[in-house]
Amino acid sequence: MERLQKVIAHAGIASRRKAEELILQGKVTVNGEVVKQLGTKVGPNDVVEVNGIKVEKEAPVYFLFYKPKGVVTTVKDDKNRKTVLDFFPEVTERIYPVGRLDYDTSGILLMTNDGEFANLLTHPKYEIEKTYIAKVKGIPTREHLKQLQKGIRLDDGLTAPAKAKFLSANKRKNTAIIELTIHEGRNRQVRRMFEKIGYPVMKLKRERYAFLDLTGLNAGEWRPLTPHEVKQLI
Ligand code: URA
Repeated sequence: MERLQKVIAHAGIASRRKAEELILQGKVTVNGEVVKQLGTKVGPNDVVEVNGIKVEKEAPVYFLFYKPKGVVTTVKDDKNRKTVLDFFPEVTERIYPVGRLDYDTSGILLMTNDGEFANLLTHPKYEIEKTYIAKVKGIPTREHLKQLQKGIRLDDGLTAPAKAKFLSANKRKNTAIIELTIHEGRNRQVRRMFEKIGYPVMKLKRERYAFLDLTGLNAGEWRPLTPHEVKQLI
């Protein structure tokens, strides 16, 4: 169930605010009845009309985006920072990101206007594997990497088993590059896991999301997902 003004806005008929005005003006009906209550919930089988014209759902679209660092994953930012939407000026559908990446994290991020798809993929039960490459301060020991694999006790509980792989180290600079694969999506999880074992993350990139990677894309670029890829994901 979704709020009426959101359904109208998502159909591309009006902005959320304009949709609210239309509702208050009595121009919107649900199953033939005028509805003036903002926030009325409607489901997929309800017929919504604006000025007597049926509201059709936007056709779903799916994109794979290489998010640069220094970009917020929200669609609006109160500090006026660059958002992921700034990279999609030619896309008219009302898309949003599937999950989040921190402002300073770069890498793979799916974008869609399909709420069901986004909900499914971000649901913890779905356990999508995400692979991160972290540059950390210090050179983690084998024991510390094992700890990452077994689970780390964070403020919001023990992390699920993960895969950690040592990729390289720079002894002179006292830094290391570690690949970490997790299937949870807690807030700042990778940064918090490394922080907890004493190796703060200096740079973070998400390299893979399920079977998808960034092949062929530079930071800031995107491509549509193929219908086959969408099917494979859900
Ligand atoms: N974990 C983090 O710490 N940051 C991200 O952006 C994604 C996962």
